[in-house]
Amino acid sequence: MKNPSEVPIKLLVVEDDPGICKFLKTTLTANGCDVLTTDCGAKALEMMSSHCPDCVLLDLGLPDMDGNRVIESVRSWTKTPIIVISARSMEEDKALALDLGADDYLIKPFGTIELMARIRTALRHTRTALENDSIALNGFYRVGGLTIDFRKRRVFRGEEDMNLTPNEFKIIALLAEHAGQVVTYKTMLRELWGPYASRDNKILRVHMANIRRKLEPDPNTPVVLFTEPGVGYRMAEEEQPAPGAR
Ligand code: CA
Repeated sequence: MKNPSEVPIKLLVVEDDPGICKFLKTTLTANGCDVLTTDCGAKALEMMSSHCPDCVLLDLGLPDMDGNRVIESVRSWTKTPIIVISARSMEEDKALALDLGADDYLIKPFGTIELMARIRTALRHTRTALENDSIALNGFYRVGGLTIDFRKRRVFRGEEDMNLTPNEFKIIALLAEHAGQVVTYKTMLRELWGPYASRDNKILRVHMANIRRKLEPDPNTPVVLFTEPGVGYRMAEEEQPAPGAR
């Protein structure tokens, strides 16, 4: 995998299971990445600052510290994408890691294609957040036949205004800014209604049901807004232009 400047992507794998670590190193190297590995949290933090990887794959069950402490520590000084790779499959584990600042969460075992897709999404997200942000650039985000117009603060299907309320638009705008990534309930409540917002997800669920009814051709088979049960919501990624098109 190459990034736009054709420099290989540098990944840090933090994993204490030698078998999984070796598998990841082999797979990721075969996909054109530069791979650094370590089996403990303290070393991972050291390597973060000395090697500045583009992305971190982080196991949570580490011998010297919990992976969540690694996320907290890394997030205190850098936005480098962190993808958690864990056997912990509980919703609470997933929500906690994402709330602490992980970009994505993959439950073991996972396939190579899925892993590479998640890495691309995480990298694209940091890149777009920093520079080539199509939202900042054009004021639009296009997904599933919809155009989210950030200047008019409206969502259109063709010429038709989908008539979202101001709160519904705020939700859509937030999910579009993080498209491809899960946004947790906690993050949504905080971003939308401030740090003192209620912790009750019910209001979100009501809004989401209304938004889906307006935006999804078939709300039971969503193509734009996906639920991560017990964790949050994810918007589909923007339709990418065909290779070579600009
Ligand atoms: Ca482990």
